[in-house]
Amino acid sequence: MIRKLFHRAVAKVFRRAEPGRHSPATIPATRHGIRREQVSPGARRTCETLQKAGHRAYVVGGAVRDLIAGIEPKDYDVATDATPDEVRSLFRRSRIIGRRFQIVHVMQGAETLEVSTFRAAHDEDTLKDEHGRVLRDNVWGSIEEDAARRDFTMNALYYDPARETVLDYHHGVDDLKKKTLRMIGEPRTRYREDPVRMLRAVRLSAKLGLAIDPGTRAPIREMGKLIDNVPPARLFDEMLKLLFSGHAVDAVHRLRDEGLHHGLLPLLDVILEQPMGEKFVMLSLASTDARIRADKPCSPGFLFATLLWHEVLADWEARKKAGGLPTPALYEAMDAVLDQQAEKLAITRRIAGDIKEIWALQPRFEKRARRMPFRLVELPRFRAAWDFLVLRADSGEIGRELADWWTEFQDADNERREAMLQPETGKKRRRSRGRGTKAQEDAGGGGEA
Ligand code: ATP
Ligand code: MG
Repeated sequence: MIRKLFHRAVAKVFRRAEPGRHSPATIPATRHGIRREQVSPGARRTCETLQKAGHRAYVVGGAVRDLIAGIEPKDYDVATDATPDEVRSLFRRSRIIGRRFQIVHVMQGAETLEVSTFRAAHDEDTLKDEHGRVLRDNVWGSIEEDAARRDFTMNALYYDPARETVLDYHHGVDDLKKKTLRMIGEPRTRYREDPVRMLRAVRLSAKLGLAIDPGTRAPIREMGKLIDNVPPARLFDEMLKLLFSGHAVDAVHRLRDEGLHHGLLPLLDVILEQPMGEKFVMLSLASTDARIRADKPCSPGFLFATLLWHEVLADWEARKKAGGLPTPALYEAMDAVLDQQAEKLAITRRIAGDIKEIWALQPRFEKRARRMPFRLVELPRFRAAWDFLVLRADSGEIGRELADWWTEFQDADNERREAMLQPETGKKRRRSRGRGTKAQEDAGGGGEA
């Protein structure tokens, strides 16, 4: 009892001395509901090793949140008062990564744990850009400071596998149980420090089925423009997380409700305003969601190919109207759309290559005479291109018949395939030897479509 009083007195002094310092609620297992065995063995072992060496160590962030919400975490983060060098010396299979703020990757069996040292709060010395965006933070701090610089209350929970308790500095467990996503601190300041938090608010609320607290939600509409200042590579990572969350349809609806689809994703801007484009994108996101939830692989190339397709169609149409030949016009349209988006979205060259392959194969589905279909089904990208064709049919952009024909053709035996072929249409195929590239011939099947 006396010890408790003493601790309270000390805590009070500290609280006065350090602005923003809160003493945490210690939540027992009966209330947070996490059983130790649910936590990955690697995360438990990492905390144990650190604690045995005299350090504080907790599972932190998204994993604790997800476990309380009944979702299996994707990965585990550990927070500790040990410095990166100290962490490194305790684990044979570990390496320090990051230049500005070092963290340690600890390998435990097939798992990789991200171990970070408690970070300090921002102060007047923190380097920011002219909009208030934090450019650098590389100072170690206390666990209280570490909690305060996290984004949402439910992301500032520290699970101690040894004691099976959760330290909760900002009423995150309550918020999570009330299904409310709430920013820690003053939302406007926190969005200025890092505008990506607006996207995180939308993504996490969709993932966990939460309502965004009104005070956290209101500024998003006014401050959405700040996302323009975020480096493209970071934006791209965040968009990938959103699109591959398994809740992309919901997340995109929420983005639109918050007015965030404007400027954020130029592709969403245009597409969501054309009825046909919107239907196509939503079907594509719904199929991605279904695949993710069924643990099937999804490629960014395919998804971005669908997101950008209606822009390619519009651009292609304009070029053909201006007198361009179909195949070269398609290639020009593809490059124009990708150039414009790649800059903003930091689409890598590899992904851009995948996208183009899927697009370039589309006109070839029209050719159902002679040997063309036989050649097409053998191409490595046939499956992806056919999936894409089916989505086009589902959205009403093209007739069902074409997609159904290819669905049947690919599974048919040789005899049936021969019987399915369509008669040659009048004029002879023009030879295109010496003209165009191999890829162009693959796309257009030689000559003009
Ligand atoms: P998920 O992994 O499900 O996408 P997450 O919340 O775990 O969601 P991470 O990017 O893995 O997201 O971040 C881990 C933790 O780091 C978060 O839970 C949060 O505490 C903190 N964090 C991440 N991004 C930010 C940010 N932009 N501002 C403040 N804290 C952040
Ligand atoms: Mg995470």
